[in-house]
Amino acid sequence: MLCSEVRRTVYLFFEGSLGEKQQVDFKTHLSICVDCDTKTQIQLRLHRFVLSHMAPQPAPEHLKTRLTRSLRALS
Ligand SMILES: [Zn+2]
Repeated sequence: MLCSEVRRTVYLFFEGSLGEKQQVDFKTHLSICVDCDTKTQIQLRLHRFVLSHMAPQPAPEHLKTRLTRSLRALS
């Protein structure tokens, strides 16, 4: 795997949606390329930070009531 490929597939790697072979290639590259290894660590931290701050917010109470009402009206 090339450095450019690592940068392109890093988010797929985080999400675990890389193929088995690609995942091995990815990890192998990180073990031989300090630059990508460092960047991936930083991106992983950012990725986790973003995820933890994007937790779904509960819908506001009035919106829920309105939705329930319109759903009832429909049925
Ligand atoms: Zn690299």
